[in-house]
Amino acid sequence: MALSSALSTLPTVTAAFLDGDHSLERIRIIADEIVVLSDDDVRAFAETRALESAERNQADTTLRDQVVEMVIALDPDGAADRREEAAERDQNVRVSRDTNGHCSISVYAPGEMGAHLAARIAKMINARICARDPRRRGQQRVAAFAEIQGLPGAHLSCECGLDDCPRAVPLPEEPADLDPAGDLPDDVDADRAAQLDFSELDTTGNDADEESESGTDGEADSDDDTDAQLLLDLAIDPVGQREARLAGFGVIDDSHAAHLIRSGLVKVFEFPGLEIPRTAGIVTSLDRVPAALRRPDIPFPATPIDPTGHGGYLTPPKGALTYRIPAWLREKIIELDGTCRYPHCGRPASECQIDHVVKFVHRDPRTGGWTVEFNLMPLCTACHQRKHMGLLIPTMLTDRAVIWRDPITGDTITTYPR
Ligand SMILES: [Zn+2]
Ligand SMILES: [Zn+2]
Repeated sequence: MALSSALSTLPTVTAAFLDGDHSLERIRIIADEIVVLSDDDVRAFAETRALESAERNQADTTLRDQVVEMVIALDPDGAADRREEAAERDQNVRVSRDTNGHCSISVYAPGEMGAHLAARIAKMINARICARDPRRRGQQRVAAFAEIQGLPGAHLSCECGLDDCPRAVPLPEEPADLDPAGDLPDDVDADRAAQLDFSELDTTGNDADEESESGTDGEADSDDDTDAQLLLDLAIDPVGQREARLAGFGVIDDSHAAHLIRSGLVKVFEFPGLEIPRTAGIVTSLDRVPAALRRPDIPFPATPIDPTGHGGYLTPPKGALTYRIPAWLREKIIELDGTCRYPHCGRPASECQIDHVVKFVHRDPRTGGWTVEFNLMPLCTACHQRKHMGLLIPTMLTDRAVIWRDPITGDTITTYPR
């Protein structure tokens, strides 16, 4: 009913839906996000742009992010008002009884709470659980959540049960009775068992020492101390042409970003490599529409970048023959592409590996693909493996669109940068 009601004010989206052009889920995402625009002309504009975005083979999450960014750009004050109204009307924690002695917990809360919870759970699991833990990931997450919730006795630790668990709470260093010649496993076990009783205090002390010594780089093997101080990344655009982006959540409106900065929950940085020329004259709200949604004039398809993997260069620029991707270039690729570039994958580029589209040749770098902008794209771990299986062969175009071709059927799927 809600969808039907929304569609009654969105004729263009309705027509596309009835034509069967888009899935129910994608129509629902578009309708949910743009129905709030009250101005008829602005809404009509948003319908067309959102449908253009939906034509692309990106993940549903990416589609939502693009549509949200457009809606915020078109009506920033409205976005802030609606966020505050939603807080008053809908914020809640619901705990309901479910099957098999379980419950369901559902929380409608500000985006930063979800992003922080997800990041903290991931960080705890990463720091304390090794790959041999027998539990499903979901079960590990619930154990982490229980500890975060403060449930008495709840503590997330690895259950692999192996002596050499790399994530186990470290034992005190250099026990005095260590016998270099003693090979008997029973003795070792007994020693460890004896030490475990008081190991907790010792290791806490060790952690604190390490923390103060390592200084700025205390992120790698973090534990409880750093969990509490986990800050989220907030990217802002000082020029005001891109909407602020909260890592782990997505685009947020300006007043929300200002609130997060005041709250101290975020680490703020500016979008790297941002060089959007200002439109001459008055900057209208339409000028602030995300670049990805603002290019009807660009001919499609663009021409492929040269197939050599040299990114249009005749001679290799500095660093092109080095396999390692410099930090600035990595940041630029992340900023340009936004997400994993494999079809229908929405994993944020910041969580991806940067892949050489045309393979880098170590024994003769000049002949293979170079480490240059137009031969690099973000791929998440899973999609990176898919690419190497050769099911789809990528070609990058001069507008950074990537055509993925099925070598058997010849079918193609195109993905686009942010
Ligand atoms: Zn383990
Ligand atoms: Zn992916």
